[in-house]
Amino acid sequence: MEVQQMEAQAVTRDGRAWQPSYLLDISQEICIGCGRCFKVCGRSVMSLMGVTEDGDLVGLDDDDEILRKVMTVSDPGACIGCAACSRVCPKNCQKHGPSQGIENDARKPLSAIA
Ligand code: SF4
Ligand code: SF4
Repeated sequence: MEVQQMEAQAVTRDGRAWQPSYLLDISQEICIGCGRCFKVCGRSVMSLMGVTEDGDLVGLDDDDEILRKVMTVSDPGACIGCAACSRVCPKNCQKHGPSQGIENDARKPLSAIA
């Protein structure tokens, strides 16, 4: 899939320029699934998912197979780049920056995105 390159030119309410810091990735090796980032995000960008013994991401309904939970970037295109989620993360496991396209890795096995 071709990656879209989009550099947003954003402004504050009174017209001052500012650079959005979009949520690009969450390290699924480091994330502890605490949910703090999810609570502060008003854009429904992230979803909590389960990780199986094989390192696959599954929905939370698959209770029997889940070893731990991690936050995933399930709707990257909805992010406005406010960076609130990074400020509350206790593990510093998020990657933020200018838009690098909107590919979604949330449902790939961990081995494919590590
Ligand atoms: S940067 Fe803001 S909008 Fe984007 S995921 Fe984090 S809290 Fe949500
Ligand atoms: S705040 Fe950090 S450690 Fe907690 S779920 Fe979000 S990304 Fe993971």
